[in-house]
Amino acid sequence: MIGNKAWYIAACWHQQGSPPIGNFDNVSQGTRRERIVLPTMSPGTERSLQVLRFGAEGARPKAYLQASIHADELPAMLVLNHLVERLSRAAGDGAIRGEVVVVPVANPIGLAQFVQGRAMGRFALAGSGNFNRHFPDLAQSLDEGIAGRLSDDAAANVSVLRAAMGDALKAMQPADEVAWLRHVLLGLALDADIALDLHCDSEAVLHLYLGTPLWPQAADLSAQIGSQATLLATVSGGQPFDEAVGGPWWALAERFPGYPIPAACLSATVEYRGRSDVSEITAAADADNLFRFLQRRAVVDGDPGPLPGAICEATPLDGVHMIRSPVSGVIAYGKEPGDAVAAGEVVAVVVDPMNADFTGARTDLISRCDGILYGRSADRLARPGKVLCKIAGTESLPDRHAGALLTD
Ligand SMILES: [Zn+2]
Repeated sequence: MIGNKAWYIAACWHQQGSPPIGNFDNVSQGTRRERIVLPTMSPGTERSLQVLRFGAEGARPKAYLQASIHADELPAMLVLNHLVERLSRAAGDGAIRGEVVVVPVANPIGLAQFVQGRAMGRFALAGSGNFNRHFPDLAQSLDEGIAGRLSDDAAANVSVLRAAMGDALKAMQPADEVAWLRHVLLGLALDADIALDLHCDSEAVLHLYLGTPLWPQAADLSAQIGSQATLLATVSGGQPFDEAVGGPWWALAERFPGYPIPAACLSATVEYRGRSDVSEITAAADADNLFRFLQRRAVVDGDPGPLPGAICEATPLDGVHMIRSPVSGVIAYGKEPGDAVAAGEVVAVVVDPMNADFTGARTDLISRCDGILYGRSADRLARPGKVLCKIAGTESLPDRHAGALLTD
């Protein structure tokens, strides 16, 4: 377990211009803890990130995991809490072969947002938008001159591009506290071999978002964590964290086709079911699966055991039917998360409670595809345009386009 020893306050990143490396508190053998202070936005306030590092700095492979950039998605925090306990034990045993970096609470800004007694952690109330969008595009930040430093050596190209993207990030000057948060998180993850961003949905089964170029080599992640819907996109749109970390590799490979540039980071968003699915038993099992995945990828020593059979095949994110309500009213679902649905089947009914003669009071919401209903809104009040259900179909839908595939 992590001890209670006092920790150092690393200098503000905006004063240093680079991540504060070196101000660590060694909390136990092989485990270091760092505190990164975000710039103060108003007098008397200060927010910080805690970063836990396991194994030797710079050792490979490097895995990075963060929880709850959407601050009120608490199942993710509990999973990492259990994983940290396992990693701490492994570090004490000298079993961390690479390096593991964990940010157990990725969004202290959103965690402080309460409205009418409820945590509101998806959008910044101060106006900076969805916390998991608008991460810097590091591929775009590199100019054409970088080609002069590339060669036929794929591993050397990875090193050159990682360093160049790191330099590009340091040169950026974020405009506000949320931009700084994104900047710091990306800086911690951008040189990772594996980067996992842990979330949850509203009401959902466990599902996974991956870059299409990472498939099928990331099939072991999907199977190990027990994903019930694994959704692939080359560009989802909006620059979420996982694409900001992983996406530059395939963007640069396309831009410089004369040089070998591999997909050097297995970057993914893991959705740990629904907002209320907070359970010690489930979180412990999920942490076991992440730990076994890290063993399987040689980040941590030890036998992960046989790979579980995959629950689902990967399907295209542009094959997801996001069913939006055309009307306002009370939602009554006919299908549960995890249910298979058929094209033409009614998955929910929206009832207009003001309709006095009951004619047309009910609006059926119908699936356009065969697939798995993997997520639905926990809120039972429909408004026109609101996404109520998400169904993973196997075929791309004509009105779903790259760059606009996620909900707001
Ligand atoms: Zn989320």
